Amino acid sequence: MSKVFKFGIFIVIGLTVVSFPIFGNESNQVRLTVLHWNDLHAANTPKQSIKDGDTLYFGGYANLAGYINHYRNTLEHTIELNAGDDFQGTPISMITEGQSQIDINEIIQPDAMTIGNHEFDYTWQSLQKKFSEATFPALLGNVIVKESGISLFPADIIVDVDGIKVGIIGVITEDLLGVTTRKATEGLIVLPKADVIKVSLEKLIPITDIQIILSHSGFEEDSLMAVEVGPEVDLIVGGHSHTRLREPKWVNGVPIVQAGSKGKWLGLVDMVIDTSLNRVVSLEGRIEDILVGKYPADKKIEEYVTKSESIVKKEMDVVLAELETDWKRSYSSESNVGNWITDALRLTMDTDIAVVNSGGIRANIEAGPLTKGEILEVCPFGNQIVIFKLSGTEIEEFVKYRGSKHRETLQISGIKFHTIDGNIVELTIDDKPVNKDNLYSVATLNYVSDHFERFFGVTPAERSINTTSMLDRDILFRFARDQKTINSVIENRTVVE
Ligand SMILES: [Zn+2]
Repeated sequence: MSKVFKFGIFIVIGLTVVSFPIFGNESNQVRLTVLHWNDLHAANTPKQSIKDGDTLYFGGYANLAGYINHYRNTLEHTIELNAGDDFQGTPISMITEGQSQIDINEIIQPDAMTIGNHEFDYTWQSLQKKFSEATFPALLGNVIVKESGISLFPADIIVDVDGIKVGIIGVITEDLLGVTTRKATEGLIVLPKADVIKVSLEKLIPITDIQIILSHSGFEEDSLMAVEVGPEVDLIVGGHSHTRLREPKWVNGVPIVQAGSKGKWLGLVDMVIDTSLNRVVSLEGRIEDILVGKYPADKKIEEYVTKSESIVKKEMDVVLAELETDWKRSYSSESNVGNWITDALRLTMDTDIAVVNSGGIRANIEAGPLTKGEILEVCPFGNQIVIFKLSGTEIEEFVKYRGSKHRETLQISGIKFHTIDGNIVELTIDDKPVNKDNLYSVATLNYVSDHFERFFGVTPAERSINTTSMLDRDILFRFARDQKTINSVIENRTVVE
């Protein structure tokens, strides 16, 4: 039977169960539950929070896997999908360059995992090698190696769930090169997702019962994709934007799901499939909080996490300094932790200015003894330090550019400015007025200099950009240790009105 019935699907928003008119025979109907998670970011250990005076423990990969085990054992047919960004966020992932996350997924054995942008953090060559040694399938259809023209990973896979044929297509955000360092993705080409998906669908539709897109692209891109590829697709399982969708969002007849981030939720999508018509008859979805103790934790993962954490714990527990104020990051304004990091870069590298992107600051830290592990939570990426020069005139252009609307603020040391509607009303470097003809040295992270125009509003042109071998984390460890006591405050370094 052709898929033509799917075009009759109407858009329903706000209902938990969506049923479609039934044309087939009920005996051909089977129930399949998709279990999905995304953006785990190496949050392997449970976290605690205080709610109404009670301590609540939640998350942790062994507990997430405990929920998966429970549903595998109690539901008739399940399929497990990981929508990417398992790497990066805690020291264990950094120390093992992501291998810890592959080891844990080896235990879970998802039916498919799509590759997220943070899986590229240790370069695509490292990523390809690590995943090719894994026994669970990794998918990624829209990233190809320029030299060979071959995609990094297979675009799709057919999973046979007790006779139900499920076609799964893996894709990533088309902005991949914009969210990774140049070194990580050098030599790769990102293709439009819709083109790749259409090729896969053509192949899969005649030979599978349903088709799912496993997408590490973010909810916005997934919505656009639903419009482009249309209701031929039965489900989009998403990631990347860390969106917590309590129930599926329907766009152009396609349900989109995503389960937040950091292993705090497991997504479940219950589908009734008519295998003679090859279509979904009804679908409902939800996410479940991962609470410690609700279902038995996965023993193997618990053992793995305990062992690997104890290896890093000793190192990470080393106290470097006393933090007198809570470090509070901010994506859209100056932050005290941003001031501390950029001061560390500027003073260590002996430059006039230092800048880092707010998005690279990944955690808040409470006042108290500051450990190595906490600094790594704040700056987990191990960026290389880059040095270059800007003329006074370029600094003015840069400040005017930063004075216009940007979602992401740059954290800055060395410069103080105040702009109103993009006009400079105050600008100093080292508390002195800017000399237009001077050249000023700038220290930043390779991630920032790789996206030079986006962050600085001026072209890198012929500029010599010196990528040093120094890593941000090593500078921060040393700076904290030398300071002994850290008192970070907001100083109105950048005032944009
Ligand atoms: Zn991502």
